[in-house]
Amino acid sequence: MRSVYVNGKWVPEQEAEISVFDRGFLFADAVYEVAAVIGGKLIDYPGHATRLGRSLHELGMAMPVSEHEMLDLHREAIRRNEVVEGLVYLQVTRGAADRDFLIDPASKPGLVMFTQEKQVTANPKVEIGLKVKCVPDLRWARRDIKTVQLLYSSLMKTEAAREGLDDVLLVEDGVVTEASSANLHIVDADGTIVTPPLSRALLPGITRGSVLSIARDNAMPVREDTVSTAALASAREVFITSATSFVMPVVEIDGRSVGEGVPGPITRRMRELYIAKSMATAT
Ligand code: PMP
Repeated sequence: MRSVYVNGKWVPEQEAEISVFDRGFLFADAVYEVAAVIGGKLIDYPGHATRLGRSLHELGMAMPVSEHEMLDLHREAIRRNEVVEGLVYLQVTRGAADRDFLIDPASKPGLVMFTQEKQVTANPKVEIGLKVKCVPDLRWARRDIKTVQLLYSSLMKTEAAREGLDDVLLVEDGVVTEASSANLHIVDADGTIVTPPLSRALLPGITRGSVLSIARDNAMPVREDTVSTAALASAREVFITSATSFVMPVVEIDGRSVGEGVPGPITRRMRELYIAKSMATAT
């Protein structure tokens, strides 16, 4: 049984409670972060902490605990639950108030944290690669804020699974924004890694940022540019990145093979470099 953190207390998971008036529950008025854990240590923690601050700022919500306390709580979650490999999930909600579209400026933000065990390094899909399909991106227009409003992506991923697929790529105005819960990257005909530039259309992924800096540090050609559906269709390699999947190859899109239909060499190299760097800098 896990020990979870709810508004200042560590409790067994069955005893964890949130008010039915919590605005995270009623309005999806909440933001979250997910950091991977390897060997009991946090991967890319500073990036996740910084993005949490930005998400809260964008919604005019206060940070419920200090930066220092937040890191201590992460470590405590890992320690109490003896997590070796997995993730720490945290959610900050606006808090409880009688249901009203108007946000009460006096509402007190709440904080919930829990852990999940997960095989993050030895993921069998790494060797096989993912099969995906493209769907219209019908999410709200502030996807740069990491809110818990994940319904559309969740519905699309479930639909894809029913069709025997692993994920979806979201397309808006002829360009790919990202996957349901990961950033998109392609390797073009010249061998350049191309990833969509940051905007309100997609989440500024922490893994995406690390992948870009690893590419630059290792003299791998890289460019931030929009990825049209035509560029996607002619890509040599396609991969997606997220905190808990790291770098994952995509080998089939809309029933057509990407390149040779197997994980490509640049994707494999990037995954190795990412894991090596993350483990060396884990906190
Ligand atoms: N895009 C979306 C929509 C996501 O949900 C996620 C992961 N939560 C990402 C991208 C990847 O971000 P990160 O690398 O910070 O996990």
